[in-house]
Amino acid sequence: MLRTLVIVAAALLVFLIIKNRLDGRRLQRKKPGPASTEKMVKCLQCETYIPRKEAIISGTEIFCCKQHQRDWEKSHQH
Ligand SMILES: [Zn+2]
Repeated sequence: MLRTLVIVAAALLVFLIIKNRLDGRRLQRKKPGPASTEKMVKCLQCETYIPRKEAIISGTEIFCCKQHQRDWEKSHQH
């Protein structure tokens, strides 16, 4: 009887340790990254820096807005 109790207690302890580790990892991943680490890109037309996720990217060309994409393409047509 005592032996069973010890095994159950040990299993519970291991379970709690694993659970704590998983929770800790989840908390670390949850941390929001500071805005300064956000990748900035430069508009080809006006050379303004904008967050990459807000940029309009067509191939290797990057623009801050649709208008500048159009302007740049107009002035770089052959
Ligand atoms: Zn622009």
